[in-house]
Amino acid sequence: MSTRLVHTLLCLLIWLGWFGGACASPAAPLVSGLPGGLAGVPMTRQFSAEDFGASPQHLALSTDADGRLLVGNVDGLLRFDGETWRLFELPTRSAVRSIAVGADRRLYIGSYDTFGWMEPDGDGGLVYRDLLDAAGLRGEARRVGVVWDVLPAPSGVYFRSDHALHFLPYRGERARTWPLPAEVRGFFVDGDVLFARVEGQGFSRFVEGRFVPEPGADVFAHRGLPEVFPRRDWRLLLGVDGFYRADRNGITLIMGDGGAAFAGTGAYTAVELDDGSLVVGTHSGELFRYDSDLKLRLRMRLGSYGVQALGTDGEDGLWVATEVGLHRLSVPSPWSVIGSAQGVKGRIFDFEWFDGALWLATSRGVARLQHDAAGNDRYEAKDWVTYEANSLVATTRDLLVGHRDGLLVYRRGAARPIPLLTIDGGVYALLQSQHDPGLVFAFSEPALYLLREIDGHWVVWRQFPTDGISTWGVEESARGELWFGDTRGYPQRWRLDLDAGTLLDKAVFGRAEGLAADVAEGSNIYLLDGRVHTVVGGQGYRFDGRRFVPDAGAPFSLVDRPKELTVRETPMGAYAYTARQLWHRARRNGPWTQIHLSPDTAGGYGMLRVNADGALRISTWKGLVQYDPTEHTSVRQPLRVGIESISARRARTAPASGVAVAAEPLPSASLPVPRSGQVLDVAAGNSLNLRFSMVSMESGAQFRYRVHGVSSDWSSWNNAVLVVRPLPAGLYRVEVEGRTRAGREAEPLTLAFRVLPFWYETWWARLLGLLAVALAGTALVFALIRLRTRQYLATNRELEQRIAERTFALEDANRQLTELATEDPLTGIANRRVLETGLRREWNRCVANGQPLSALMIDVDHFKKFNDDHGHLEGDHTLRQVAELLHAHHDEERELLARYGGEEFSLLLPGVDVEQARQRAEALRATVAASPLGVTVSVGVAGFVPTRNAERDGLLRRADGALYRAKRGGRNRVEVDGD
Ligand code: GH3
Ligand code: MG
Ligand code: MG
Repeated sequence: MSTRLVHTLLCLLIWLGWFGGACASPAAPLVSGLPGGLAGVPMTRQFSAEDFGASPQHLALSTDADGRLLVGNVDGLLRFDGETWRLFELPTRSAVRSIAVGADRRLYIGSYDTFGWMEPDGDGGLVYRDLLDAAGLRGEARRVGVVWDVLPAPSGVYFRSDHALHFLPYRGERARTWPLPAEVRGFFVDGDVLFARVEGQGFSRFVEGRFVPEPGADVFAHRGLPEVFPRRDWRLLLGVDGFYRADRNGITLIMGDGGAAFAGTGAYTAVELDDGSLVVGTHSGELFRYDSDLKLRLRMRLGSYGVQALGTDGEDGLWVATEVGLHRLSVPSPWSVIGSAQGVKGRIFDFEWFDGALWLATSRGVARLQHDAAGNDRYEAKDWVTYEANSLVATTRDLLVGHRDGLLVYRRGAARPIPLLTIDGGVYALLQSQHDPGLVFAFSEPALYLLREIDGHWVVWRQFPTDGISTWGVEESARGELWFGDTRGYPQRWRLDLDAGTLLDKAVFGRAEGLAADVAEGSNIYLLDGRVHTVVGGQGYRFDGRRFVPDAGAPFSLVDRPKELTVRETPMGAYAYTARQLWHRARRNGPWTQIHLSPDTAGGYGMLRVNADGALRISTWKGLVQYDPTEHTSVRQPLRVGIESISARRARTAPASGVAVAAEPLPSASLPVPRSGQVLDVAAGNSLNLRFSMVSMESGAQFRYRVHGVSSDWSSWNNAVLVVRPLPAGLYRVEVEGRTRAGREAEPLTLAFRVLPFWYETWWARLLGLLAVALAGTALVFALIRLRTRQYLATNRELEQRIAERTFALEDANRQLTELATEDPLTGIANRRVLETGLRREWNRCVANGQPLSALMIDVDHFKKFNDDHGHLEGDHTLRQVAELLHAHHDEERELLARYGGEEFSLLLPGVDVEQARQRAEALRATVAASPLGVTVSVGVAGFVPTRNAERDGLLRRADGALYRAKRGGRNRVEVDGD
C-alpha cells in the first residue's frame, strides 16, 4: 500500500469523524520564484467534516461582503468567519451548487430546482428566499434542474440552469429567461457581457439569446474552457492545456514558461489572487500557481481528489475545495514550508545551498533536495553517514559535512565524499570564517580544529584542546577571535593567529569582568551590531571591549526565555529567536517585530541562515520554514470587531454588579444588534449576553473587553462571549478589542447600553415616593412639635416651681446663716446670739454645779451725743475700741463677752458671785474712763446661783435694771442688782 493511499484513507477516516484533528496534506511540490526554483509548500490549514459539521463534499466557494468564507456544500451553505462554522440548510435540503455576491451586496445561490438569495435574519443568521416567482417561472418551468452558475453583472444577476438562462435585474425591469441548447458548456461574465463556450462553435458572445462566435472562436470548438479572466481590452482564457489570449484579432495560445504544465492534469477551475497571480486547480488534485506574467511559480499536490472550487478570502488565503475536503493555503506569502511534503525524513539540523540544490543535515544523515525540470522536487537521501549529520558548510567547490563520526568533504560533481576527520563524538558544528573564506572552524567535544583549503584541498591544519568547554554558541567577532558560550560556565574568548595557526590567548569572563549573575545555567553568546552579547543567569550583558556591562534592551527584553536567545544578522536584517519565538529587525535601530507563523509549522527554531539561493531558511521541529524575499503579501483590509448576537436574560439572582462568564438556565430574548452610535436598552434585572465576531481567516480570533462603569480593567484575551450580570440602572459602555492569534489587531468596538430602571427606580415612582416621604415627614414634624411644646411648658412650670422653692430655700438658708453667725460684724466680739446660747449653757452648768453666775450690762454713756459731735463713723470706731478694751480685760477661756446691741455690751461671768462681779465691773468702768477714748460706761451687775426653776432671762434683766439705776445715778458708775 502506497503512502499516499494510506494518507488518503486516513483523511477519509478523519472526515468520517473517526479521528479528530487536521490532516496534513501529502503535497508534492513545485516551482519557485527563487533563483534555485525551490519553493516551499504554502502554510496550510485543513478543515474536516468534524470542523464544519456537514458533508465533506463542496461545490462552490465565495466570500460575503464582510469577508466571511462561503462554501457551497452538499448539505447547504456553509459560512466561516475564521473561528466558527455555520450551516444554513435550504428548505429543500438540496446542495448549494453556485454562490455569488451581487452588485447589490446580496448573496445569491444556485441549487437544484431552485435559485434565490440569502436574507439576513437579524440574528446573525441567513434565511433562503427563492427567486423562482421573481423569475416568472410557472408550472413545469420551475423544475430548473442544476443551477450551475450564478453570474452577477452590474445591472442584475444571471442564473444558468440546465436548460435555461435567467436574468433578474436588481430593481425595476422584468426578469428574463432564455432557453439554452445542450451544446452550451460554460458561461462567463465580463461586465454586462456574457460569454459562453459552445461545443462545436467555440468561444462565443451571448447577444439577446443568440451565441455569436468571437474572432478565432473555433480554438475552443472542442477544447475545454474552465475559466475566463477579463482584462482591459482582451480576455485571458484558461484552456485545459494552456493559457490563451482572446482579442479582436482572434485567440492565440500564450506560451508562458511552463505554460502547459497543467496540460493533461485536467484543469478544472482557476482563481486570480490579489497579487495578480493565477491558481489553477485540476481534476487530479494538483494546484498550479502562475505569476501575473504566467510564469509557473508553484506546483503542488493537495491529494488525489479533484479540485472542485477555488476561492480567496482577502487575507492572502487561497481556499481549495475538493471532493472530500477544504484547505486554506497562505498564498501569496513569503513564508513557505519544506518538510514531509517534499519527502524530507528526520529532523533537520542544518542546511546549505550547494550545486543548485538544497542540502540537508538531518537526524537521518545527509540529503539533497532539488527541483527538477518537470517542476517536481526530488528528495535524495545520501548514504554517506551512518547516523546523524550535524552541520554543513558550502564553499564554491565543496560541501563540508560535520557528522556523528567526523567530517566529510564532498567535491561538486564527485561520486562520493572524502572523509577528512574521524573523531569519537563527531563534529557538532562547523563555522566558516567570515574574515578568511579559506578557513573553517570545526568543533568537536575534545578539540577545535582549523580546516584550511590548501592548493584547492581541505586539510586539517591545526587543533586546540577545548579543555572541557561545553559549547553553547560560537561567534567569530573579529578575525581569529572566537567567543564561546558554555552550558556549564562563563563565556570564553579565544584569540588565534590565523596566519601562524597559533592560539594567542584564552580568557574566561566572569564576575571580575562584570558578569555578576549566577552562572549555574551557563552562558550563551551572540553578536549584534558589532558587539558581543551574552546572557548569564537570566541577565543580559554586552561586551564593551574590556568587560561586560548589563544590557537589558531588545531583543533580550522581548523574548520569553532569554536564556535560549540566539541572534543572527543577515542581509535581510537581524533575527532573534528562541525555540518558540521569532523576532525580526529590518535595519539597525529599527523596531523589532515578532513573526507569527502558522501554529502547524512554527516552533523549535534552531538554525537560521540565508542560503546562497537568496532564501532565508529556519529549521523547525517539523522541517524548514523558508522566507522568499521575492514574494509579497497583499495589502490587507483592516480587521473589525463586530457583534454576532446580543441576548438579554432575566436573572434569577438578585441584582449585583459584576461581569462574569456564566450561563444561567433561564430563557433569553435576543436583542437587535444596535447600529454604531445607537444605545442599546436593557430591561432592569436582566443579564446581557454578547457574542463578538471578527472575520479573519487567520486562525484564532481572540477578544478582550471591559465594561466602563463596572471595571476599568481589561479581561484576559479569551472567548468571544461576554455575560454582563444584571447591573444597576445607568449608562454603560463596553469596549471590545480583537486580535488574531498571530497578533494582528482589529479595529476595536464600542457598544453603549442603558440598563433601564425597575419601576420603583423610575422618576415618577421616585417623585411619588419622595412626596409620600415628604408628607409623612411633615406630619411627624408637627406631632413632634406639639409633643415638644407640651413637654416644654410642663418643664417650664416645673422649673419655675423649682426656682421658687430654691429661692425660698435660699432665703431660709441665708436667714439660718445669719442666725448661725456668731461674731458681731462691727466689733468682732461675740454677738447676742452667742450670748443667749452661752447663757443657756453656763446657766445649766452652774445649775448642775451649784455655782454662781453673774452678768454685767455695760452701756456707753451719752453716745448719741458722741455721734452727733464726732460723726457716726468716728462713733463706730470708738465703739470698736471700747469693745477691744473690754475684750482685753476679760478671760476668754471662762468668760463670755458679747455685744448686746447698739452701744451696749454684756459680760457673762460663770462661777463668779455678784461681789466679785461688781469688782470686775468697777475695774472695767475705770479702764474705759481712764482710756483716751473719750467715753465712759455705766455698768449694771447681777449675779446669783441659778436654780432649775429660776427664769434664765432674769439675770440679764436684773443686770439691765442695775444699769438703768447707774444711768440715773449719774453715769460712769457701777450699780449692783439689789435682790
Ligand atoms: P445714756 O447715757 O442715757 O445711755 O445716753 P445715750 O445717748 O447713750 O442713750 P440713748 O439710748 O438715748 O442713745 C443711744 C445712742 O447710741 C443712740 C445711738 O446714736 C447710739 N448708738 C447706738 N448704737 C450705735 C452704733 O452702733 N454706732 C454709733 N455710732 N452709735 C450708736
Ligand atoms: Mg443705751
Ligand atoms: Mg448710752
